[in-house]
Amino acid sequence: MNPLSQALESRFDAMADELLAVYEDLHRNPELSMQEQRTAKIAADYIEKLGYQVHREIGVTGVVGVLRNGDGPTVLLRGDMDALPMDEETGLPYSSQVPGVAHTCGHDLHVAWLMGAARVLIEAREAWSGTVLVVFQPGEETAEGARAMVADWDQAGLPHADVVLGQHVMVGAAGTVSYRPGVILSAGDSIEVTLFGRGAHGSQPQNSVDPVVMAAATVLRLQTIVSREVAPQDAAVLTVGSLLAGTKENIIPEQATIKLNMRTYDEGVRDHMLGAVQRVCCAEAHASAAPKDPAFTTLSSYPLTDNDHEATARVADAFRAQFGDRVYESKPSAASEDFSIFGRTWKVPYVFWFVGGTDPETYAKAQAEDTVKDIPSNHSPRFAPVLDPTLKTGLQSMLTAASAWLCPGQGDGSAQGGEA
Ligand SMILES: [Zn+2]
Ligand SMILES: [Zn+2]
Repeated sequence: MNPLSQALESRFDAMADELLAVYEDLHRNPELSMQEQRTAKIAADYIEKLGYQVHREIGVTGVVGVLRNGDGPTVLLRGDMDALPMDEETGLPYSSQVPGVAHTCGHDLHVAWLMGAARVLIEAREAWSGTVLVVFQPGEETAEGARAMVADWDQAGLPHADVVLGQHVMVGAAGTVSYRPGVILSAGDSIEVTLFGRGAHGSQPQNSVDPVVMAAATVLRLQTIVSREVAPQDAAVLTVGSLLAGTKENIIPEQATIKLNMRTYDEGVRDHMLGAVQRVCCAEAHASAAPKDPAFTTLSSYPLTDNDHEATARVADAFRAQFGDRVYESKPSAASEDFSIFGRTWKVPYVFWFVGGTDPETYAKAQAEDTVKDIPSNHSPRFAPVLDPTLKTGLQSMLTAASAWLCPGQGDGSAQGGEA
């Protein structure tokens, strides 16, 4: 067992009640993206009291705790804080008390994990050396938070990390962790397209440029991007989730608005599809004799989460030593994250992995019956991770991954070659 897991093992029972209380409190009091004031204060006050040097309001509500502990690499541990604009239907005693806002992605657990990991790291300083950056990130669900934090980073005098580590609770047997070298999460791009026409009476189409027909043709043509322009071995999705135009059956409106979402697993495919969306929308506008080109607004943009191979191998070795047969290689997920922005901005390796949050018996039964898809997943109003053992597993995984850089040559020898 690595020294940081050992340190956790000896104090987990003493910490568990405190962390569970924090988790339930955050769950009851969810906050929307970039408005996580209360959550940020709870996290910042906690690590400040532990002895961290704390920087608040890094990227609006973001918090960075710095712990310098001798020579060695600088390791960034990231947890996101925001909740979603939806109602919770779990029926849990600690359900959300805020109408229309709920922690249905599990970021409340991410905060509790990171607070607990911060405590173990400072209490067990003799077990490691290096610098730790504990990062509580706002606004993951809107892809704003990581960008906002790195934008404020240098001005706050914060050091860049040598490696960036992050994790997410997901559907999967509680007690297990899963990793993947390379792409683990898709890129996600959401775009609003406004198509301009010319309004007229419904009885006089010859005087109009009908944006309803233009939009209908555009939606159909957009569906040929994945089916005709992307190779079958390259997975991709393009969904038009919203199409709005007009108010009344006999008025040809002035414009139509389309909102679409794309998921891709390859930078080249992503670039091609972004270009194809522009091309198709503009060409359909020209085909309709539109008075001007469409307007494009980026609603959100999540880069690929493309784990560094070497750093992931290091994490995987440490995981296998810690978890044995409770660690496995994951498939890429179609979800998206802004986590990679830290590593991308500083050009340093990053590793993101998943921690199972489903009752193991429920999960095994669902696997046997091929009903895993029916388990309420992240963003479902019924998403409810089981806390035993998920709370402990997430602490173990975060500390174990960190130990691969902070405890070279110690314990299980998980840091390959023993170099920092
Ligand atoms: Zn989410
Ligand atoms: Zn999430």
